[in-house]
Amino acid sequence: MLKIKELCAGYGEMPVLREIFLSIEKGSIVSVVGSNGAGKTTLLNAISGIVKSNGSIICNGEEINFLPAHAIVKRGIVHVPEGRKIFPEMTVIENLKMGAFLQQKTYQKNLENVFALFPRLAERKKQLGGTMSGGEQQMLAIGRGLMGNPKLLLLDEPSLGLSPLFTEIVFNAITEIRKSGVTILIVEQNVYQSLRISDRGFVIETGRIVLSGTGKELLENHDVKKAFLGM
Ligand code: ATP
Repeated sequence: MLKIKELCAGYGEMPVLREIFLSIEKGSIVSVVGSNGAGKTTLLNAISGIVKSNGSIICNGEEINFLPAHAIVKRGIVHVPEGRKIFPEMTVIENLKMGAFLQQKTYQKNLENVFALFPRLAERKKQLGGTMSGGEQQMLAIGRGLMGNPKLLLLDEPSLGLSPLFTEIVFNAITEIRKSGVTILIVEQNVYQSLRISDRGFVIETGRIVLSGTGKELLENHDVKKAFLGM
């Protein structure tokens, strides 16, 4: 589905990503884990065209890294940013409508699917996004992403700042979303939760991939245990 080769990206003169190689099979969940400042958000921003990059990003056989961000969304790559970035002055339903901007035909069906996945959003349709709890806002951000009919969903730190209960709800929802055929790329600091549900994982350190394997292999890896799991 997605193949990344020799990807380099940065801000001005400052390089952040250095020769990243990564591939994502259709229908899989892939995690990129690493500590603060390792380059996880920059990687998602490069894929979704927010940050310019060199090297190649090939989606379903097409080179996409020189396309503008709106053209990348049209190809079904939908980015749920770090910190949710929902519209605080809009209601839940209005936020979801914004996500369906390019997908009017499937609006009703997608709305039903989002409400089935997150019943809390159905109960709070008219509540202003900004008055919802962090966990509810994360559900809304993912729901808004799903309204855009993603083929590849990019999730930036979906568990950031969430209680263990909401973290569990969000990660369970991610596995449900995969069952519906959506491919998922997660970048996370919550190494345990994200690798637990991933087919493959990559560890990123100062802009380079230093380790990869199945989710299970990485969870059992000595260096991963020591660096991220406090074991
Ligand atoms: P975190 O887990 O803290 O969100 P991250 O792994 O997502 O970290 P990035 O946000 O990709 O890391 O940041 C990687 C590096 O790029 C950091 O050193 C950061 O300070 C720098 N950086 C990020 N955004 C910008 C920007 N807009 N301008 C300049 N430098 C930036």
